[in-house]
Amino acid sequence: MCCWRRVQNTYKRCGHAYDLPDQMIECDNQHCRFSPTHPSTCVPPVCTETCWQFRQFPQQYTPQIDAFCPVCEERRRG
Ligand SMILES: [Zn+2]
Ligand SMILES: [Zn+2]
Ligand SMILES: [Zn+2]
Repeated sequence: MCCWRRVQNTYKRCGHAYDLPDQMIECDNQHCRFSPTHPSTCVPPVCTETCWQFRQFPQQYTPQIDAFCPVCEERRRG
């Protein structure tokens, strides 16, 4: 089922972290209300009984980047 992914880039060289816009991760489950494969003909009250009505809890994704962040990189260049 679909969920949001929260991405926070962490820059190892300066320790700064930046949030990226949340990404929607779509599933292909027909019984998920948010899925692209969910039939448009499936509407409440049937849909509420047969399909997921909620997204999963957001996944936290924090890639560690071995570099300075864009701001520090800018400052270093002067
Ligand atoms: Zn889904
Ligand atoms: Zn449905
Ligand atoms: Zn930085």
